[in-house]
Amino acid sequence: MRIEYDIKLGFKDVMIRPKRSTLKSRAQVNLVREFKFLHSPLTWQGIPIIAANMDTVGTFDMALALANKSLFTAIHKHYSLSDWRTFATNAPKNIENHIAISTGTGKKDLEKLASIFEINPNLKFICIDVANGYSEHFADFVKQTREHYPDKVIIAGNVVTGEMVEELLLSGADIVKVGIGPGSVCTTRVKTGVGYPQLSAIIECADAAHGLGGQIISDGGCTTPGDIAKAFGAGADFVMLGGMLAGHDESGGEIIERNGKPFRKFYGMSSSTAMEKHVGGVAEYRASEGKTVEVPYRGNVESTLQDILGGLRSTCTYVGAQRLKELTKRTTFIRVAEQENRVYED
Ligand code: 5GP
Repeated sequence: MRIEYDIKLGFKDVMIRPKRSTLKSRAQVNLVREFKFLHSPLTWQGIPIIAANMDTVGTFDMALALANKSLFTAIHKHYSLSDWRTFATNAPKNIENHIAISTGTGKKDLEKLASIFEINPNLKFICIDVANGYSEHFADFVKQTREHYPDKVIIAGNVVTGEMVEELLLSGADIVKVGIGPGSVCTTRVKTGVGYPQLSAIIECADAAHGLGGQIISDGGCTTPGDIAKAFGAGADFVMLGGMLAGHDESGGEIIERNGKPFRKFYGMSSSTAMEKHVGGVAEYRASEGKTVEVPYRGNVESTLQDILGGLRSTCTYVGAQRLKELTKRTTFIRVAEQENRVYED
């Protein structure tokens, strides 16, 4: 046993220090980023915020709404091939730049991935997603996928430490997804004791990825637009959101009424709700590692997006970053013991 004594930080432990700026207005801030990739020859341009591949977030409807604003969606892996076929006939052509196909690491997953590419060979992004990206089998699967798809952009995760980011990039991933345990409906830290405070995970993993020419996605733990800004400030190239995009018209999930008010069901992909829905229950050898909650219905996702993007533009003006790309360079975090004033909250 060994103990690391240096303090690891989460979003709530810091704020971003304001800096002198020449920007006159938030309208001057450009949130669009352009990326070249470590392995794939493709390039990507857009606002690097991603809807999580959860079936109560990363839906086809969410993808259409987010693509409209140049954002991105990791489509959840539970759509059938016929759902993908229907989507292919009504989605705009440039949707390929704004969605990833999610997959697990089983043999059936690989076959399904191939079938989705048969439906639309122009799709560009593959998101290989497992709760624990530390297994040798996972790195092998990334290698195998890279051999099958030399030109596609491969996202792989989740991990939280630099050495594993490097291993996944060297195995063929272009982008590594970072986060174990910070998610709003995640119970991994409670069930297993395993995890890593998200801000430190981002800082350490971004450093490892950028050193090799790869990128990272900060996945999980953002509860406010300010957290998203902190994730970018810490070095995340992309930020993935679950809970912040749940509860909308586009999110999917059962609609429920409580005391006359509408709610939508939102659950972790390892919750017993998800496992019962998709794989017929929680297998005997494992525990559920996700929560099921009811979130207030929030209408159309567009106003939430405006709130997020407006907040991010404002962060950029506070530190003088004309482009989102400059935010990390212009970020100084201060360690804090308080966040917002909650006097009018119950
Ligand atoms: P949020 O933005 O809601 O804080 O976090 C979203 C992320 O939580 C997802 O992208 C995924 O990585 C993670 N997540 C989703 N479902 C589960 C789950 O059931 N268990 C765990 N451990 N993590 C989950």
